[in-house]
Amino acid sequence: MQEQILRKIFLGFIHIHILHHAKKEPFYGSWMIEELKEHGYNISPGTLYPILKSMETSNLIEKEERIVEGKVRKYYKITLDGEDILKESKSKAKELFKEID
Ligand SMILES: [Zn+2]
Repeated sequence: MQEQILRKIFLGFIHIHILHHAKKEPFYGSWMIEELKEHGYNISPGTLYPILKSMETSNLIEKEERIVEGKVRKYYKITLDGEDILKESKSKAKELFKEID
């Protein structure tokens, strides 16, 4: 039960994290898994890819295929809608952290 609640909370953080990096520069899935690991989130491809897919469907990020070492690699970058959501999420997060700090 506690774990499910934490998952829900972290899911929001992970969305913000993804948008933040998608804005900085396009990334690919396994890079994001490593990046999140460094921040203390152990997230499997089976969890990350559906999140990326749903963010793509919601038009927050878009996929771009690049050939890297002869293989197709999918990169994700932020859309204009995604930038709006990121901006709003950041201001809400800042407001919250100011309160609970
Ligand atoms: Zn990061």
